Amino acid sequence: MARVPNWQLGREMTYPYEAAFPERQFAFVFNINRCIACQSCTMACKSTWTFSKGQEHMWWANVETKPYGGYPMFWDMKILELLEQANPEGVGWSGKLSDDRKEPYGRFDGRTIFEAERMLTPDSARVLGYLPTDEEWNSPNIYEDNPVGERGKFFEWHKTGEQLPVHKTWFFYLARICNHCTYPACLAACPRKAIYKRPEDGIVLIDQEECRGYRKCVEACPYKKSMYRGNTRISEKCVACYPRIEGRDPESQGKPTETRCMAACIGQIRMQGLVKLNRDGTWAEDRYDPLYYLVHVAKVALPLYPQFGTAPNGYYIPPRWVPRDYLRQMFGPGVDQAIERYENPDRELVAVLQLFRRSKYIIYRYEMKEGPKVYEGTLRGRRVTLYNDTVIAYGKNGEELFRTTVEEPIHVRPAVHANSI
Ligand code: SF4
Ligand code: SF4
Repeated sequence: MARVPNWQLGREMTYPYEAAFPERQFAFVFNINRCIACQSCTMACKSTWTFSKGQEHMWWANVETKPYGGYPMFWDMKILELLEQANPEGVGWSGKLSDDRKEPYGRFDGRTIFEAERMLTPDSARVLGYLPTDEEWNSPNIYEDNPVGERGKFFEWHKTGEQLPVHKTWFFYLARICNHCTYPACLAACPRKAIYKRPEDGIVLIDQEECRGYRKCVEACPYKKSMYRGNTRISEKCVACYPRIEGRDPESQGKPTETRCMAACIGQIRMQGLVKLNRDGTWAEDRYDPLYYLVHVAKVALPLYPQFGTAPNGYYIPPRWVPRDYLRQMFGPGVDQAIERYENPDRELVAVLQLFRRSKYIIYRYEMKEGPKVYEGTLRGRRVTLYNDTVIAYGKNGEELFRTTVEEPIHVRPAVHANSI
């Protein structure tokens, strides 16, 4: 076992292999506040990669309704429970939020899934995990749109109407793909060494020639994003649409292009990037990379269950109407700050949020040009001023991909027919 740095935990941790980092890492930000569960992302992935026999249960991209939903069923409740058993003294964070990119969320003091395994399964597993049952893989949409009410008062709606920041009756949509983790549990658990992380972009792949279907990756992945295919007896997982990232999709025109699930997102919640890394795995300062800005400057986007220890590369802007305790468990101690900043965005954050889904190409850098003041007023007791700034997105070679403004342009269609809308 090696000791490796994990900035999301603010400390070193144990991992079966020495740390090795790609130059750039596949990463993404999902803004939960915008997701409408249209499942366009889910179907875009399904129709691209998992439409064949034996892949019926494979939803590499899925959107589940929290808190009850999950695919496979109860995946996070089950692994959280195991983690709790492995941490009888409690699973907690200490320290403070800070600007130090080595410990932005303080320090996680509990054991991760890599540090707890000997206590629970000393004979076989290298990583704390479990194998979902067939029934748990059966229902990708279970509990869709089912809200939870106040404890003991299910489905009682707030009498005076819903109020932010926390609703009494709530649910939210959690869109998920493989996190292409910095310390993949799937990779750590594979006895065949069939799983590898690409040095150029950190995408985690299963070598289909090497895999023998032992399902150790399925057992180990805490996010349950590695899946077993019964008719080929080989495991498969999200491939991050790597031909598109490489600019090799026929529609990419040679430019690094976002994955199918990102490009299809109707709610404009998704943005994907390739972030630069330092030699210790922390994010290299890249102030005008939109992902760097959202995670390390504005600090509105947080990793999903950082306490698992895999250092996932999926980041989420948490939903502002959901009880904070639930969100802190899911996204760590940065939740309150993230929501406060998202609810009261400064000028730059408002502009950067316009970059989501204006283009299918990967944005490497943005630039902001200040525009005129267009609104001044009060919102929830705070003064709000809006400016119609322009934000410009640049691609890999510095070429301009697009420019957009804070105020969405209005296009009026000519009334060609009597019923034109
Ligand atoms: S999310 Fe799971 S399958 Fe994906 S890299 Fe991490 S551990 Fe592996
Ligand atoms: S396409 Fe976008 S808005 Fe629709 S379900 Fe997926 S993440 Fe949510």
